[in-house]
Amino acid sequence: MVNIGLCKGICKGKVRVMKKKEITCIVCPVGCKVEAELGAGAEGTEIKISGNKCKRGYEYAYKECTMPMRILTTTVAISNGELPVLPVKTDAEIPKDKIIECMKAIRNIKVNAPVYIGDIICKNILETGANIIATRTILEDRSRYC
Ligand code: SF4
Repeated sequence: MVNIGLCKGICKGKVRVMKKKEITCIVCPVGCKVEAELGAGAEGTEIKISGNKCKRGYEYAYKECTMPMRILTTTVAISNGELPVLPVKTDAEIPKDKIIECMKAIRNIKVNAPVYIGDIICKNILETGANIIATRTILEDRSRYC
């Protein structure tokens, strides 16, 4: 049982389950079905996690309940390239609740070819600490000179 908040002390030590969440652990290919029970207890909001086969699964489920994080993958517009869009991703996980905001910011980005795999397209997007990087190389479209 893990305490994640403040309690008013009305439940006198008993955990009252308010919400159950089923989570598929994606840390390894086993894909355990993990159940998280979010409840109110004497110590505040508590999370009981079961079904995980290892500690990594516990940590994953706990994070999913408290602060879910995701790698964002998308595309940005590119000018003069062999392709019309450049595939990109964050180089670190960002909070799930920032994804829509990040997508709105990324929609305004336009880069010029050539761009090489691993190039940073946007540094520290929305102060998340993650950079947006290119996931493929797109060279200049030379056919337009012919
Ligand atoms: S709980 Fe452990 S064994 Fe199960 S999927 Fe997650 S990492 Fe793999």
